[in-house]
Parts: sequence; structure tokens; C-alpha cells
Amino acid sequence: MYMDTHAHIYKEYYNDIEKLLSQIKKDNCFGVINAGCNQETNEEVILLAKKYNNLFATLGIHPENATNYKTKNIDYIIKHLKEERVVGIGEIGLDFHYQGYNKEEQIMLFEKQLAIAQKHKLPVVIHSRDATNDTIKCLKKFKVTGVIHCFTGSIETAREYIKLGYKLGIGGVVTFKNAKLKEVVNAIGLENIVLETDCPYLSPDPVRGKINHPGNIKYIIEFLSKYLNISEKEIIKKTNENVKKVFDINIMP
Ligand SMILES: [Zn+2]
Repeated sequence: MYMDTHAHIYKEYYNDIEKLLSQIKKDNCFGVINAGCNQETNEEVILLAKKYNNLFATLGIHPENATNYKTKNIDYIIKHLKEERVVGIGEIGLDFHYQGYNKEEQIMLFEKQLAIAQKHKLPVVIHSRDATNDTIKCLKKFKVTGVIHCFTGSIETAREYIKLGYKLGIGGVVTFKNAKLKEVVNAIGLENIVLETDCPYLSPDPVRGKINHPGNIKYIIEFLSKYLNISEKEIIKKTNENVKKVFDINIMP
């Protein structure tokens, strides 16, 4: 059984979460790390992790909220780090993709949360889009490790993150035709990756375009198994070991 290390299981996207969580067990997904992005979703992932023992939570303020978050939202995160099945800080990072972003404010928010992770010895889940150099600059200032979620960069960038102690979150993008990501995975090896969906987004082939869910990790495993010529069992074993190295999760089969 495998784990989905990055998902957004919110009621906004799924109207029957209980049913979804029992269905993904049938798809051999034994656990999901559910990432918060703002005050509302941080509260939600905590509640859900309390309720369901196959749901874990990370708390964070996403860079898209860098100009409108409040100090009390950060205080809330710190206050709730000890809640049941809260396993890290995220989703945090930098996103310079869309016009109008505020670089300074994003970096300030990012570093604030990296400092919290360092202080509380928690792993981080990083979102980095069109911001590789600045992300690496920020990460180097702190003694933290974690996952670079939805990694789609080059082999060189992958190696830089790995050198800093990070695992790369590999999701549905790897299955897309023309995606160079599979070559990156081949070059860096299974010991440096964890699997994720980023659901409800980024459904892998052959369910691309539909709403994504953690059970679809099976298609990513299937794809990697064929492409790398490594058994599905081995891919699951290696990536589960990596999850254990990053997160304090011991329910694994
Ligand atoms: Zn995400």
C-alpha cells in the first residue's frame, strides 16, 4: 500500500469525504497528507485529521496569501502543531508565476514559516513556481528538510534540492506525454522521491482532466514501473521508506 504525500481534501472539492477515504483504501492508498493553505483550510485539515486515522495534516500559509494573511493566522499554526496527526509545515513557498505578485512579502512569509519549522523540528512541504533561485536561497538559511512538492524542474535543480536534504514530490505530471520529468526521476533515482497527487488538481493519465483523488497514485506507480523497468512493489517500498524518513508517520504497512 502506498501514501499520497500531498493532497487538498477539502469539502469545497469533495462532498463526501468519508466515502472518498474508504474508496481510496480499496485503491491501496493507506494514508494521505492533507495540506492547508490558509486559515480556513488549516482549520479544516486539523478537524479531518482528528476524525480519520488515514488523514494527516500539514499547516501553512500558501504564498498566494502573502499579501492578505494576518499575524493571528501564523499564531494559529504555532498553537496547533501538537494536534493529532499534524506532521509538518506546508504548503509554504514562493510563487512568481502570475503578474502582480509581491516578492518581498512572499519571502517574508516563507521565511517566517521556515523558522517555525526549524524551531519545532518539523518537515516542510514546499511550493515553488517560477521561483527556484529564491526558494533555494531561502531554504539555505534554515536547518530544515522536507518535500519539494509537485517538482517539475530540471535534473540540475533536482540535485540542488537533494543536496539540501529534500525529497521531490512526484505527481501526475510525470505521466503526461512530453513531460521531461520522467527523465529527471530516472536520473535521480527512487531514493529521492515521494509520490503525491496534489488533488483535486493534476490527474495523471489515463484520468487526466477528471477530478483527482489519492487513489490515482496507482497510475503514477504503474507508469513509473513501466518506464523505469522496476516492479510496482519496489517503487512502493522505496517511496514509503522515503515518506518515513521525512515525516513522523508510523502506520505504514
Ligand atoms: Zn498543493
